[in-house]
Amino acid sequence: MGEQIIPLVDARQRALATPTPLQALPAPGTLRDTRGRPLRDLRISVTDRCNFRCTYCMPKEVFGSDYQYLPQAALLSFEEITRLARLFIGLGVHKLRLTGGEPLLRKGIEGLIEQLSALRTLDGQPLDITLTTNGSLLARKAKALKAAGLKRVTVSLDSLQDEVFRRMNDVDFPVAEVLAGIEAARAAGLAPIKVNMVVKRGTNEHEILPMARHFRGSGIALRFIEYMDVGATNRWRMDEVLPSSELLKRLQAEFALLPLAHSAVGETAERWGYAGADGRHDPALGEIGLISSVTRAFCGDCNRARLSTEGQVYLCLFAGAGYDLRALLRGGASDEQIAGAIAAIWQGRSDRYSELRASLPPDAQAGGRRIEMSYIGG
Ligand code: SAM
Ligand code: SF4
Ligand code: SF4
Repeated sequence: MGEQIIPLVDARQRALATPTPLQALPAPGTLRDTRGRPLRDLRISVTDRCNFRCTYCMPKEVFGSDYQYLPQAALLSFEEITRLARLFIGLGVHKLRLTGGEPLLRKGIEGLIEQLSALRTLDGQPLDITLTTNGSLLARKAKALKAAGLKRVTVSLDSLQDEVFRRMNDVDFPVAEVLAGIEAARAAGLAPIKVNMVVKRGTNEHEILPMARHFRGSGIALRFIEYMDVGATNRWRMDEVLPSSELLKRLQAEFALLPLAHSAVGETAERWGYAGADGRHDPALGEIGLISSVTRAFCGDCNRARLSTEGQVYLCLFAGAGYDLRALLRGGASDEQIAGAIAAIWQGRSDRYSELRASLPPDAQAGGRRIEMSYIGG
């Protein structure tokens, strides 16, 4: 198992070693990367820890009891995160997603949400602040999260069948508690709620239709995510990916579905609405989403940056290295210097891994030197 740990550690060291350029700021609203993509969406990982061991994300054999998580001092403080978020917003970001690891494990997360929700976009609007969670602590925390200013949540849930779910989270966590968390989020007004289901062929593909039936008409959008080759520890294999096109066919055998327009540029999900008796989309029945990160690349509109728990900025989910913003923060750099560095990093961005995946050599496709999803967030 030692050979599996090496790439993860190397990736973090490489990230720390990457030099960060400093330069002047572009005019507000004009920042673009080398492929003309703006910076709109910042995903902030608030912890590298998790109480689940989903086999596709934090397999037990790698993330065991002796796994070295980041020490507290390495983590960005809430003040540091808020400062960076403000600078990213000044460069065009208007959506923040808190993630991890499991973000609800970060102590006092409500305090961070309070600080972030006081920020405004470049045109003075409140931010779209959301959070992706495994739902295990949601029943306890939903009310406080809402009160702190969180707008909505995305809950990950891979099966309604208790036995399948317990096997996939690999810590024997019961599905009923996640469902109770979703209900608590709904009752607290954290809306709209989305549910993410990672589909692995041969593991939970038989749960596609039961999940669709369960969430149809509930006001909750269920999104099916293709099992991705993120990180270097999950032993990803293409034959365990169920392509969205095949998944859609299975859904269409039971439900009438109509394609819906993208809700925003850079939106990762392809949306399909349930048709009512008149053959048109019935909003009361709701919609599903297909996130085809493997079979249908959506890099062309990708406007997301990711901030790791220790303040590295990553330009792609599949990046092997990040840029060290924490060194700037703790080295006494001014707001202008840090914003200039972020702008320069974004202007140099050319990442489009999903578009290139098929043409990459096999060792770069799966298990190459890459950062883990639990470190960088989804
Ligand atoms: N712990 C939280 C959760 O599970 O929602 C937030 C972090 S988790 C890394 C974010 C999202 O990434 C989850 O929806 C999870 O299902 C998804 N994810 C993790 N590993 C994945 C993989 N190999 N392929 C596709 N999605 C994955
Ligand atoms: Fe934890 Fe989320 Fe990864 Fe599952 S997907 S191990 S809940 S971080
Ligand atoms: Fe964005 Fe990278 Fe995913 Fe392409 S592969 S959509 S660039 S995160």
